[in-house]
Amino acid sequence: MNKRISIEEAVNLIENATLCELGEMAFAKKLELHPDRLTSFVIDRNINYTNACWVDCKFCAFYRHVNEDEAYLLSFEEIGKKIEELIAIGGTQILFQGGVHPKLKIEWYEDLVEYIAKKYPTITIHGFSAVEIDYIAKISKISTLEVLQRLQKKGLYSMPGAGAEVLSDRVRDIVAPKKCDTATWLRIHEEAHSIGMKTTATMMFGTVETNLEIVEHLNYIRELQDRTGGFRAFILWSFQGKNTRLLESHPEIMKQSSNRYLRLLAVARLFLDNFANIQSSWVTQGSHIGQLALKFGANDLGSTMMEENVVKAAGASFRMSSDEMIELIKDIGEIPAKRNTNYDILEVYA
Ligand code: SF4
Repeated sequence: MNKRISIEEAVNLIENATLCELGEMAFAKKLELHPDRLTSFVIDRNINYTNACWVDCKFCAFYRHVNEDEAYLLSFEEIGKKIEELIAIGGTQILFQGGVHPKLKIEWYEDLVEYIAKKYPTITIHGFSAVEIDYIAKISKISTLEVLQRLQKKGLYSMPGAGAEVLSDRVRDIVAPKKCDTATWLRIHEEAHSIGMKTTATMMFGTVETNLEIVEHLNYIRELQDRTGGFRAFILWSFQGKNTRLLESHPEIMKQSSNRYLRLLAVARLFLDNFANIQSSWVTQGSHIGQLALKFGANDLGSTMMEENVVKAAGASFRMSSDEMIELIKDIGEIPAKRNTNYDILEVYA
């Protein structure tokens, strides 16, 4: 399928195509973009430098208010120790994200990024969501573009797509009313792209959104990608509800099925014709659906996840070593390959 699909066609596919049809179309699209059949993965570590956060997203079980006993802020040395453990297993990237700490200003982040970049030059810093960047700008009384420029200067390489949830202000007003709005999330990514900093795009589905809102989200990022080419990958995952306030206020929200995940993943692969990479979210779906996702458009298995705290707090705690990941990829007929943050292939396990 070479013709770009429209919003209406994508909604129709979600609602009316069979799972097999979607899988066949998305797999064909993936092969068109990745004829070498390599399935990549990265060895990284999620470092959640703080769980202190004032944003109070209703779907989040990870955060604490800064004055609560369980709130923490890691010291630079504690962060350094985690990076050393990552280097010891051949890791190349840290996914660096926190809650939105109410007190930390740009200088603290500059010192942190500089500390990591100077002490661990082999490690790529893929860090800080648009939501964090937005607040650092506000509390430091500077623009979001200046935040990005200053952190880039200190060694920030790349920005993850977290905080997108569903890019619909109606949905955001229900699930995360204090979070930056759709236009701000998109603007911050566009600013990052404008200074040569690549980013990823994400979506967390399974709360109160409609199928049309899901496709509109895909359309926003497709349009931005047309303008900048700055997104490296798209990652889709489902809301994990355990321990969250959203399930208390919206008990009608159902746990999302694997069928639904695979359908949306396939439609994303078809719709996002200008995205090279689609990641499978085995962390939320489990290793077997994560593997099956490779037949529904995904060409990357993401991270081996040496450490993950955010979805674990909401009840999903899958784990995988790089050996298991390699086996899983081979088992479904693909060729495993270790990559870096930039999706350059470092090693192929033929
Ligand atoms: S999702 Fe992020 S911004 Fe929202 S409450 Fe949790 S840690 Fe804070």
